[in-house]
Amino acid sequence: GANIRFEDVHFAYDPNREILKGISFEVPAAATVAIVGPSGAGKSTISRLLFRFYDVTSGRITIDGQDIRAVEQESLRSAIGMVPQDTVLFNDTIGYNIRYGRWEASDDEVREAAGMAQVDHFIEQLPEGYDTPVGERGLKLSGGEKQRVAIARTILKAPPILIFDEATSALDTATEQEIQQALDLVSRDRTTLIIAHRLSTVVNADRIIVLQDGRIAEQGTHGELMLRG
Ligand code: ADP
Ligand code: ADP
Repeated sequence: GANIRFEDVHFAYDPNREILKGISFEVPAAATVAIVGPSGAGKSTISRLLFRFYDVTSGRITIDGQDIRAVEQESLRSAIGMVPQDTVLFNDTIGYNIRYGRWEASDDEVREAAGMAQVDHFIEQLPEGYDTPVGERGLKLSGGEKQRVAIARTILKAPPILIFDEATSALDTATEQEIQQALDLVSRDRTTLIIAHRLSTVVNADRIIVLQDGRIAEQGTHGELMLRG
């Protein structure tokens, strides 16, 4: 696994409004760290910086000791697997949507990844709302099923780093728990950053960082944070 470090990272989308105000933390190789905090705190900004959609204003981000400003965006995209809040599917079969994780994968590998995420039964089908053949209707996927497609894609891609950005926030409680279990399996032995609204959804993280208004307000394990109230 890869080790990620944020070292006194400052960031502003626009020069007169700083969004990240000097944050430092580490995600040790193969560990799971969660960033929680209210909407607008700067959580998703952290994931955008990791992909180098933007570069830090000051401070630095390293992966395995290397400043990511020296790493091509393309390499970061292949090293990082992302499960977003709402997975948007392409206009093609579910199998193709999974293959997007790694084009060179064999059909067997696609099927295996689909099986692990429990979406193998509709791998040949097209999602509803896309260009289905005349007379056919696409498959209506629930929010949880779409997240399973994203998980299958990530299993196939097998990147060293994972980001789950509010990956269960749009789901009802029962589905959230199911998808959470699937995400826990995928993240085992991989360096994982979870972005979440609520502490209750990241109980199993090795470390939880509470972000408030661009600063780390507190951090610890779930148990430690609960004790402090
Ligand atoms: P969170 O994920 O914690 O809800 P974000 O990282 O998405 O927070 O956003 C933090 C702040 O940055 C918010 O005030 C948001 O409005 C602002 N912001 C996000 N994206 C942009 C952007 N592209 N340009 C300017 N401001 C932005
Ligand atoms: P937002 O929360 O505003 O969607 P994100 O930081 O989650 O911002 O992502 C910004 C954009 O980049 C989104 O359109 C997202 O789908 C895309 N994106 C995120 N991760 C990847 C990835 N691994 N490969 C390609 N595109 C990605």
